[in-house]
Amino acid sequence: MLLELKKVFLSEGECLTVSEDLDLSEMELNGCCPLKTPIKVEAAVKNRAGVVSLAINAELDYSAPCDRCGEETITPLSYSFDHILVVSLASEDDDDCDYIEIPDYTLDLDELVTADILLELPVKFLCREDCKGLCPQCGENLNYGKCDCDVQISDPRLEVLKDLFQ
Ligand SMILES: [Zn+2]
Ligand SMILES: [Zn+2]
Repeated sequence: MLLELKKVFLSEGECLTVSEDLDLSEMELNGCCPLKTPIKVEAAVKNRAGVVSLAINAELDYSAPCDRCGEETITPLSYSFDHILVVSLASEDDDDCDYIEIPDYTLDLDELVTADILLELPVKFLCREDCKGLCPQCGENLNYGKCDCDVQISDPRLEVLKDLFQ
């Protein structure tokens, strides 16, 4: 969605709110498409004392295989992002700040939201905090029960104790 923001820029106190469903179902990340359902995006642009700020709220369902057991898991995530919009950057230094430059008063909201979300998506992803993973021997998913393998799981803390009492 393109936002025409000239009116907001030119009058103090002006604000514009929009909401949309952003479809990123085709976007591939690490070989799968984690955003199968549309992302609910709400954005508010406000001119407060001449400073134009943008607040974005995004709600999405992230679906990906668990890093430990491989089970496909869907997790709802919600993010909020804040930016300051300017027509031109005052100096080169402003480059590292969270300023977004829109010389023609037009903001490509989808592009910005996509970039924001990509930075936030989880790098490590588990189906649950205490996922037990797969048995290294038979590949059984240990979240569903034990297998019959006799696997010695060595705990580094216990190894230290063993050394002490030798
Ligand atoms: Zn898992
Ligand atoms: Zn096993």
